[in-house]
Amino acid sequence: MAPGGGICKDVIESRVAYSDYDMATSSAELRGSPLRKAASGLGGSLGATSTNDVQELLECPVCLNLMYPPIYQCPNGHTVCSICKARVLNSCPTCGNELGNIRCLALEKVAESLELPCRYQILGCNDIFLYYGKLKHEKNCRYRPYSCPYAGAECSVTGDIPYLVMHLKNDHKVDMHDGCTFNHRYVKSNPSEVENATWMLTVFNCFGRQFCLHFEAFHIGMAPVYMAFLRFMGDEDEARKFSYSLEVGGYGRKVIWQGVPRSIRDSHRKVRDSQDGLIIQRNMALFFSGGDRQDLKLKVAGRIWKEQ
Ligand SMILES: [Zn+2]
Ligand SMILES: [Zn+2]
Ligand SMILES: [Zn+2]
Ligand SMILES: [Zn+2]
Repeated sequence: MAPGGGICKDVIESRVAYSDYDMATSSAELRGSPLRKAASGLGGSLGATSTNDVQELLECPVCLNLMYPPIYQCPNGHTVCSICKARVLNSCPTCGNELGNIRCLALEKVAESLELPCRYQILGCNDIFLYYGKLKHEKNCRYRPYSCPYAGAECSVTGDIPYLVMHLKNDHKVDMHDGCTFNHRYVKSNPSEVENATWMLTVFNCFGRQFCLHFEAFHIGMAPVYMAFLRFMGDEDEARKFSYSLEVGGYGRKVIWQGVPRSIRDSHRKVRDSQDGLIIQRNMALFFSGGDRQDLKLKVAGRIWKEQ
C-alpha cells in the first residue's frame, strides 16, 4: 500500500478516538444524560470531577479509548478493553497477573448506558446513540469513510471522496478526465486470456462529481465477456440522480446500455456480479474489433447526465 494512504487512515482513527474523549469530557453536554447519572451513581458526588472519574474508569489503560462490552478484568480488578486483551497475551497490563476471561459486568452496564456521538462526528455526523444503537448506525452512517474504488488489487485505503480522488490519481495512476461525454478505446492483445482479468478504471469529473468507469474481462458461467459500468463516488441517494449510457459497436452493429451509476459503497465485485452494466460477449467484442480476432480493440462511447 502507498504510504500516503496509511497515514490518512491513522489520522482518521486517532481523530475518532479524540472525538470519543472529547465527548466524555464535555460536561456541559452531559447534563441529564445517562453518563451524568452514571457519574453521580459511581462517584457519589456531582460535577465535572465525577464525570471525569467515569471517563477514567472506562478508559482502557492500554489504548486509552473508552471501553465497551465486553470489558475484561484481572483478579485484582484492573480492566482492559477486549481489543487490547487479545494483544496483551493474557497478562494484565497493569499488574502482570494472568487475565483469564473475567468480565466486568458493572462497568459494561455503565458503558451501555452512555449516550455517544457517532464515531464519524468529526466527519460531519451529529447523531447521538446508546452504545449498541451507535454500532448499528455506524455500519451505515452516511459520513463513514469510503473504501478505495480501485478494483485491480486489494487496497485497504479509506477516506472521503476528495482524498480518494487524489489517492486514485497518485497511488493507482488512474486516468482522470473532465467532461460528461467520453470516447474510450480499450486495446488488448491475446484477448483469449480472460483469466488474467483485464480491468481498467478511468475517473470522470462531471457536474462537479466523480464517476468511476470500470472495464473488465471475466466469465459469466463458462462464457467469456467484457463488461463496462459506472460507479458514482458518493452515496446511493445521490447516485440515483444521475444516468449514463455506454455504447460499443462496429461494422454497422451496436450494443447500447443505459443505466444508473452505482454508489462506490457497493463494491466493484458486487456491481460486476449483479451484471448491472454493458456486457459484451467475447465473440461480439472480437467482431467489433475487426481484423484477425487477435487483438481486442473496443471503442466505448459514453455519456453521463443528471436526471431532473
Ligand atoms: Zn484497549
Ligand atoms: Zn491486574
Ligand atoms: Zn453517523
Ligand atoms: Zn487504493
